[in-house]
Amino acid sequence: MRGTVERKTYTARLSSKLLLSERVQCYHLEFEVPELETFSFDAGQFVSMVAVDSRGKHQTRAYSIASAPKGNRFDICVNRVEGGFFSNLLCDLEPGATLEFHGPHGLFVLRPPLLDTVLIATGTGIAPMRGFVQHLFPSADQDRSEGRRFWLIYGTRYESEIYYRRYFEKTAAEHPNFHYLPTLSRPHEGWEGLRGYVQSHVKEILQQHPVMLPEHGPESAGSVADCQKTHQLRAYICGLNDMVSANREQLKELGWDRKYIHFERYD
Ligand SMILES: Cc1cc2nc3c(=O)[nH]c(=O)nc-3n(C[C@H](O)[C@H](O)[C@H](O)COP(=O)(O)OP(=O)(O)OC[C@H]3O[C@@H](n4cnc5c(N)ncnc54)[C@H](O)[C@@H]3O)c2cc1C
Repeated sequence: MRGTVERKTYTARLSSKLLLSERVQCYHLEFEVPELETFSFDAGQFVSMVAVDSRGKHQTRAYSIASAPKGNRFDICVNRVEGGFFSNLLCDLEPGATLEFHGPHGLFVLRPPLLDTVLIATGTGIAPMRGFVQHLFPSADQDRSEGRRFWLIYGTRYESEIYYRRYFEKTAAEHPNFHYLPTLSRPHEGWEGLRGYVQSHVKEILQQHPVMLPEHGPESAGSVADCQKTHQLRAYICGLNDMVSANREQLKELGWDRKYIHFERYD
């Protein structure tokens, strides 16, 4: 039996489906797990969905959970990938349909101690961030953020692809320590928000809060005093590899210890 891992699989039933973007064909899907009273996971983890393709082969794909724990239910946010097997299966699923999955899996979770935090995402990389924010700020009068500041920097091309915008705007309006910063790489003329890639705005935040960086640049990051300053901030990055790498590189150049940079890559 060496090398084989027995995994408990569950059945997820699609309970609702919402089109988030017509242009990119991105869907918000809500599932329930009828055989469980509670599906336990930490915000930010993923499930592995399993299905059989047209050649009878089992296919497995990871999808970040786009919600905080809520009984036996969980949400995902999925983009249709041209020619892709699983994303198309999910996007074409109708409420009531079922799928096998195992999980939760993954270490992309909020690490203790909670610190001031920059959340950086593009595209469906917003999924685990929604889970984090739902966990930290469950409602207007509840708060698990321990007074720490959170910046969510979300990059996408067009305004129509700012997923979950109203939810994040409402949360930011209700919680002064949560800052929501969507940025567009292809904004229309009338767009008054941030422009360009997420990296440049991450840099601005760090410049506005210099106490979080080592005093004498990256080369001095080894000293205890400088490390203490550096470590007052964490970063969580999620999306496609190029974006994740660019942000990790920038943070490292700014003198961050990689222990405080957490990331999830989708490709
Ligand atoms: C930990 C983790 C979490 C993930 N969470 C999400 C999520 O929340 N939402 C989501 O939509 N996806 C997520 N993904 C990506 C997802 O697992 C699939 O890779 C994606 O849905 C494509 O699968 P497919 O079967 O449709 O494409 P495949 O049949 O596997 O591939 C078809 C083609 O698409 C390319 N491709 C593969 N993945 C992507 C991608 N993500 N974007 C663009 N092109 C791609 C492949 O290189 C290939 O050429 C996650 C991946 C990981 C590792």
